[in-house]
Amino acid sequence: MSSSRPDPDPTSPKSLALIRSEDDLARLPASERIRYRLVGADCRYHANDNIAAFVRPGETEELKAEVAQHMQAVLKALVIDTESDHNTNETAQRVARMFIDEVFRGRYQPMPSVTEFPNVSRLNELMIVGPISVRSACSHHMCPILGRVWIGVLPNEHSNLIGLSKYARIVDWIMTRPQIQEEAVTMLANELQERVKPDGLAIVMEADHFCMQWRGVKDLDSAMTNSVMRGEFLKNANLRREFLALLSKKNGA
Ligand SMILES: [Zn+2]
Repeated sequence: MSSSRPDPDPTSPKSLALIRSEDDLARLPASERIRYRLVGADCRYHANDNIAAFVRPGETEELKAEVAQHMQAVLKALVIDTESDHNTNETAQRVARMFIDEVFRGRYQPMPSVTEFPNVSRLNELMIVGPISVRSACSHHMCPILGRVWIGVLPNEHSNLIGLSKYARIVDWIMTRPQIQEEAVTMLANELQERVKPDGLAIVMEADHFCMQWRGVKDLDSAMTNSVMRGEFLKNANLRREFLALLSKKNGA
């Protein structure tokens, strides 16, 4: 990636400090190396950003080892005897694998490949996909967010269509990151808008936030609902009503 970058002038201490060679980078922990590339590219790396383009082959394994090491330090700080307590022997490694390979994998893995088809039959009817189950986590507490999402698409003759199962894969890719529900639905809307290019796009997400149920107010019935409406869904109240009516019908209400 940066191999085409010119070598820094060895006589300039400043350039040596700013531009590290591949050998220097190789000596750093993987997280530092990846961060160095992100900062160099002026690329945001918030909890809900995908950074796959900056992670090289083998580095997620290194990240897992780093996370496990720091997780072990957290358990130590919690004064848990992970040596004698067989239940927590391998907890640090388990949590590291869970974060990187499962619940936050949408940060480290590239966008799933999705084939788009031209709208040859010129479909222009409202199409609803869902409910698609959502498994995410909140950025504030790293507690689970479990819920469902519905997507309404009003295509035009220039729209690209994607297979129904691909909607679920895109939802999963965006949700398997530490998220905030409002930002998650906006990210999902942006991704679908760009790919499908419909006349109208509507997304509704309803989810239980475990940080409300497990801690804090301990309200076991609290669910949060968010929606994003774009294009025709904003302009046309009938279309909006049709979407919401079909959605509650699908929901068995
Ligand atoms: Zn939270």
